[in-house]
Amino acid sequence: MLKARRKTGLIFFPAFDWAIDPTHPEREERLLYTQDQAMEEGLFDIEGLIEFKSQLVLEKDVQRTHFCVPDVSAMMTESHFISAGSAKRIGIAVMEKEIESGFALVRPPGHHAKRVVHGARGFCNVNIEAMMIEYLRFAYGVRKVAIVDTDCHHGDGTQDIYWHDPDTLFISLHQDGRTLYPGTGFPEDMGGPNAAGRTLNIPLPPRTSAEGFLHIIKNVVRPILDEFQPDIVVNSAGQDNHYTDPLTDMNFSAQGYAQLTEILRPDIAVLEGGYSIEGALPYVNLGIILAMAGMDYSKISEPGFDPDKIRQTEQVTRQVERIGETVLKIWKQRDELTEKRRAGKAFEERTNQIYYDTDGIYETQQEKVRICSDCAGALRIDSSSDRGARILAVHIPLHACEKCREIGRQWYDEADPRSYLRVFLQNRPDDEYLTKGLP
Ligand SMILES: [Zn+2]
Ligand SMILES: [Zn+2]
Repeated sequence: MLKARRKTGLIFFPAFDWAIDPTHPEREERLLYTQDQAMEEGLFDIEGLIEFKSQLVLEKDVQRTHFCVPDVSAMMTESHFISAGSAKRIGIAVMEKEIESGFALVRPPGHHAKRVVHGARGFCNVNIEAMMIEYLRFAYGVRKVAIVDTDCHHGDGTQDIYWHDPDTLFISLHQDGRTLYPGTGFPEDMGGPNAAGRTLNIPLPPRTSAEGFLHIIKNVVRPILDEFQPDIVVNSAGQDNHYTDPLTDMNFSAQGYAQLTEILRPDIAVLEGGYSIEGALPYVNLGIILAMAGMDYSKISEPGFDPDKIRQTEQVTRQVERIGETVLKIWKQRDELTEKRRAGKAFEERTNQIYYDTDGIYETQQEKVRICSDCAGALRIDSSSDRGARILAVHIPLHACEKCREIGRQWYDEADPRSYLRVFLQNRPDDEYLTKGLP
């Protein structure tokens, strides 16, 4: 009998009842082919590969991460509760040492969902990785987390949630935003004044192949992770970099994804995008699972796979190397960059314009963060949508200092509920989530 070298957990949740529309690329067949392939290959006969059952996240798990407008139930279907709950279950299994690593093969995906949620963006309503991570922080005292997002689209939602958090290293590899949705994720976007250099964006040119991805993982991501020394590594495992993906323009392969996983060694992987339902997903998923389990994946390849056809050009190689050097430089200079960003200021403000492409909503945010050398800083977001919903969201970070707790409280207490649809307080140190306004 075959045996996994690392005990690995899996959850499949194809969400049969959730689709944007029947022909939309984000649909339930995305996981059915993978499930069939896993059965066919006898994956569940392997000793040490364990299938877990999905569970539901609780409302509080959502409130810990998001400000849902007007409330959690308006933004979540049952499928969202289960998809997020599956990631949470895998996280718990890793923390409880039931498994060494695990992969939540679920949908709907989550990495485009930001802290404030007025609707769906890039097929995402809520951020399933972030909810899982914040639960593990709450329940197990996990502190330092690295998230490596290998979906082809920039993980702009996850970036937004962790923008100010020095305890979370967020690294996104994605097709250059000048050529793909959501159009963001450039190296100069490196985190807020309390966490400069903890967000690292690695835009790759179209038609980057395994050579380029593995160069970045080996020479940029791995050394940075080794230096950051996270308690856990989470992989947002989008598979839309595959050369057959209909939505993107990259040249990655199933073998490449498996090698990437072997080098990255994620504790927890969560499926994000990937829309080449028959030609790629079953093989990429299988490769990732075997790599996580420390097993031989060398026999896995897509039907008709020809590496010569998807080899990257010299020009792409040079561009990839350059972007890798730029990002390494930002990482090395993160302390100086932080100093420079702060430069004697008490607060930093910025305006965010957010478009919810799936639901067609525009949001404008006035964001204010307290510059703090002791914590992630109290955060205040005044957010309005073009549907007429204006909310005030106050976030007191988990390891907030006394002063930031006080300021967060004050922002919440002083807000006039008559000016807003709702005023929210996300008080992480006390795990307390308050609202005023709407009955
Ligand atoms: Zn994607
Ligand atoms: Zn503080």
